[in-house]
Amino acid sequence: MESVGLYIHIPYCESKCTYCDFASFTGKTDTIDAYIDACMKELSSYGHLLVDTVYFGGGTPSVLRPGDMTRLMKGIRERVELAEDAEITSEANPNSLTEEKICEFRDAGINRISMGLQETDTKLLRILGRIHDAADFERAVYNCVRYGITNISGDLMYSLPTQTVENCRKAAEFISSLPVTHVSAYALRLEEGTPLYGAEQPDEDTDREMFSVIGSVLKEKGFLRYEISNFSLPGYECRHNMKYWEMDDYVGIGVSAHSCYRGVRHGNAVTIPSYLSMMEKDGNAVISREDVDQLEEYVMLSTRTAKGLSLSKASLREDDPVVERMTREGLAFLKGDRLILTDRGMDIQNSIVLMLLSRSGK
Ligand code: SF4
Repeated sequence: MESVGLYIHIPYCESKCTYCDFASFTGKTDTIDAYIDACMKELSSYGHLLVDTVYFGGGTPSVLRPGDMTRLMKGIRERVELAEDAEITSEANPNSLTEEKICEFRDAGINRISMGLQETDTKLLRILGRIHDAADFERAVYNCVRYGITNISGDLMYSLPTQTVENCRKAAEFISSLPVTHVSAYALRLEEGTPLYGAEQPDEDTDREMFSVIGSVLKEKGFLRYEISNFSLPGYECRHNMKYWEMDDYVGIGVSAHSCYRGVRHGNAVTIPSYLSMMEKDGNAVISREDVDQLEEYVMLSTRTAKGLSLSKASLREDDPVVERMTREGLAFLKGDRLILTDRGMDIQNSIVLMLLSRSGK
């Protein structure tokens, strides 16, 4: 039996960020007990699972009340077979990750923390509606280390309204001066319906320059780019997220969670009331189901990673004109059977995927 990744969505936040279109809600903490029960019911419906990565995402898992994470982890251990060396990550916000909470998370089994810094400039953080500042992030990182959680990831954001390339450099220098093992760098993409939608963002060239500066600073500090938006110190790649990119099975539990299990992808109800009532009535909260197009997914996901795409798996040949053109133009290189995109190739990964799919018979 293959191990799967387990994702648990915690849909609670202290306040709503101005760009956020995730399933996260404020002021709904009176539903937490019912929510944990419903999540455990959903997990039980999978029968026996062997799990080697767990990821609490959100929302903000660190806004859970004292004792909630302990209860969740106990419930998980009672329902699945958890590998002894499982990677167990929780997302957190710097200001809600108190010393008590770090100790509770550690004792419950959490061994990796993922926290958003986003920016070091407080003005930019306020534009995003974030309520922490760089000092809160720094304090939270050192507290994690002090209490024994040493595998820490931090998020950066670029392409923000009024942000400069220099801002990005400073943020990358700051985060890489801290004892973090992993950094994700995401461009802000504004979705309709969010308060920040329509705000002016840096043009495309500046956007690329921002990412390139962040990448250079991180590389200088020993971080490897192992996926389009993710950098880690050697050996600290996120094992859970690698499952998404490697098309391994994962099970998502909770509001708006997605699963990819036995060739079928399905997604859950997107609000707390609808999730709770569906779980109570039907014992599941699935609102969408689709068969996975294995080849298309494989090309799309594998080209995001530094491991690259297996030509044979994608029914492509080394002497295919598109493959030859990519290597000639410095967009990709070959390593055995693998086609691996260079930084330049990753910048235009979407177009490369389309070209490869057109050659592999899609
Ligand atoms: S903390 Fe994260 S999930 Fe919560 S509102 Fe902000 S961006 Fe959304």
